[in-house]
Amino acid sequence: MTEKILLHACCAVCMAYPVQKLKESGYDVTVFFFNPNISPAQEYKRRRDELIKYAKHTGCNYIIEEENHENWLEYIKGYEQEPEKGARCSLCFKYRLEKTVKKALELGIQNYTTTLTVSPHKVTGEIFKAADTLTNCGVNFIPEDFKKQNGFLKTMQLAKENDFYRQNYCGCEFSIR
Ligand code: SF4
Repeated sequence: MTEKILLHACCAVCMAYPVQKLKESGYDVTVFFFNPNISPAQEYKRRRDELIKYAKHTGCNYIIEEENHENWLEYIKGYEQEPEKGARCSLCFKYRLEKTVKKALELGIQNYTTTLTVSPHKVTGEIFKAADTLTNCGVNFIPEDFKKQNGFLKTMQLAKENDFYRQNYCGCEFSIR
């Protein structure tokens, strides 16, 4: 039987290559867009809609989970001024992975992972640490470091081929430079 995996994805750019790689590894992939960290609302909608467009175009299963940005702001309260790659980002990873685990349990999906590791701006070890805090949750975390084996280069090629919208900041208001 093909194993199912719930792939947390932050945008179309970061989604394309991980979906391809997981499918090649034999997984039945469902993409899970849950990113209440993204601000402002206009930018959130742009990234969400681009991901939906690509998922539909490629026939990939996807789920959109909406949540208020205020909830995320409350979660990272006190860490607003942390630099990128710091403690605020670790909390942000955990917030999104926790919800991914909940959704996987709800859907009876045995595995999960995230596209966040494809970015060279994110520390893979910190993403894996966030997943470690969810060990024994009943869903297996697949520790894919998607930036490896030219993963980031392939991501950029796919973004160009598909003419994806490419944002110039990570997502929250604190990462806008
Ligand atoms: S910079 Fe990115 S990963 Fe870090 S808190 Fe902001 S949105 Fe989350």
